[in-house]
Amino acid sequence: MNQDFFKYQAQTTAFASGFQVEKAVGSYIYGKDGKKYLDFVAGVSANTLGHSHPKVVAAIKEQADRYLHVMVYGEYAQEKPVALCKLLAEATPEPLEVTYLVNSGAEAIDGALKLAKRYTGREEIISMKDSYHGNTHGALSVSGNEVHKREFRPLLPMVNFIRFNDESEFYKITEKTACVIAETVQGAAGFLMPDQDYFKNLKKRCEEVGALLILDEIQPGFGRTGKLFSFEHFGTVPDILVMGKGMGGGVPVGAFMSSEKIMNSLSHSPKLGHITTFGGNPLIAAASLATLNEVLTSGLMEEMERKELLFRQLLVHPKIKNINGKGLMLAVNLGEPEFTLNVAKKCMDKGLIVFWQLYKNEYMRISPPLTISDDEIREGCQIILDSLNEM
Ligand code: PLP
Repeated sequence: MNQDFFKYQAQTTAFASGFQVEKAVGSYIYGKDGKKYLDFVAGVSANTLGHSHPKVVAAIKEQADRYLHVMVYGEYAQEKPVALCKLLAEATPEPLEVTYLVNSGAEAIDGALKLAKRYTGREEIISMKDSYHGNTHGALSVSGNEVHKREFRPLLPMVNFIRFNDESEFYKITEKTACVIAETVQGAAGFLMPDQDYFKNLKKRCEEVGALLILDEIQPGFGRTGKLFSFEHFGTVPDILVMGKGMGGGVPVGAFMSSEKIMNSLSHSPKLGHITTFGGNPLIAAASLATLNEVLTSGLMEEMERKELLFRQLLVHPKIKNINGKGLMLAVNLGEPEFTLNVAKKCMDKGLIVFWQLYKNEYMRISPPLTISDDEIREGCQIILDSLNEM
């Protein structure tokens, strides 16, 4: 199979691992090599409830027995997507109320940017240096890493960048600005947390000039930092909230959410301001609804702080420089990208899956399923420490 993978499936790097998966259950992925691997990555923050969570699988099966795709987004009232949007409205603070369901994080970012431009009638977008928002032309345009953008220009015009977590740059947000877009926790840059008041003050600045604040919660969303969305730690609410990844519990989904007043502007002048065939797909919505229900009712979110602490207590080693992040999105600084890559390879040999951060390759990514047990955390951290000792 590997030969065919490298020959027929488009590659994103020259060094994909080509790891072959037999099945995946809970915190483990079982390889075709007969070994089981503890998963500290969770499909890059996507498997909120672990692999093949029984409630997610049951919801998919039940929906599959009733109907699959029946119509493009926005025409028919289908039970699961409606219930998902309603539950999101109940679980988030005002004025977040109306959800537009799409197919991926990047598409949700594009939709959110369009919404902000349409609602404000303005053209300029302010984004953050070192941000990552996805790979469509729109999402790439607002991502703050030049290496990944250079070869794909021209991108969106009128996008300007400010430094994350630096209030001295707020003067660049003006009456010309349609929106400011930011990750609440900067992911690719190594799970960088904002100062406690940064987003409150950023929102204030946006309000002063009539710009909208878009927060990208595609990674921390759905409970990973101990709240359903991590902006809830910082005493502010975005005008537009973007989610994806962990929202699906293992299926592809994205969404952007806003007030009824703002969101309404996508339905007229022109009508069909954003459209998608598969957004709000009932099978995907069923999986996402089951995931959201479980996150809200299982008490998992209350465990994030304790599990983070356990990781931090266990991961003490002279080769670990510092650990960024919050809850179960932790980035472990090992100093050098090549060293981090080699540690990840050694961990894999020993039965643990870890990864690295997209821009800051010296940071090792730890973003396991929220359902990971204390024993599994201990088992995985011991493998990391053993690997470090052997290098
Ligand atoms: N925004 C953030 C913060 C992300 O981490 C990602 C994906 O890694 C995206 C947007 C893009 O999401 P997707 O890959 O589903 O398009």
